[in-house]
Amino acid sequence: MPPDIEPGDRDGGPMTPGVAVTATLAWFETTSGWAPPDPDTLAEWLADGGCRCPDGCWVASEAWCEHGLASWQLVLRAIDPRPPTGTLREEVEGPGQPG
Ligand SMILES: [Zn+2]
Repeated sequence: MPPDIEPGDRDGGPMTPGVAVTATLAWFETTSGWAPPDPDTLAEWLADGGCRCPDGCWVASEAWCEHGLASWQLVLRAIDPRPPTGTLREEVEGPGQPG
């Protein structure tokens, strides 16, 4: 029998924020019950010197947990790269103009 391959002993290179975010987005696809934090909640976490991951783990603000999930700080920045200036630009395009 071949020896068991130890988890984590892969040739994927070091874990990076990009890898963690990608893994987290994949986790979203297969997991329900998660919800992004309110901006106020996220601010409280950052004020405490860390951040929650989508699965509830507490990590550094721009890190990832032992399960490979990126912190909400990293995830929200990745999926919503708008600068936090409060500038909202809504452009609504209808399917066509009547008449
Ligand atoms: Zn975790």
